[in-house]
Amino acid sequence: MCQHQPPCPPPDATDREAARLVAHYPEQGWCVLCNGVLLFEDTGELLPDGQVVAPRRPAADTTATGVGQ
Ligand SMILES: [Zn+2]
Repeated sequence: MCQHQPPCPPPDATDREAARLVAHYPEQGWCVLCNGVLLFEDTGELLPDGQVVAPRRPAADTTATGVGQ
């Protein structure tokens, strides 16, 4: 499948988001990576095996500010 050099990371790799974009649907808010991962604009992911990865917030400041709220 992947013809890139170096090859894109597989969908089960922690750096799977580093795979090349093969399709982008900005009006729908998602794109397809070379390894078959669907990547949504909210950082959620749908893996080729059907596994869903929940969106991740940008670096939370919980460690910096503690439990203040
Ligand atoms: Zn590739």
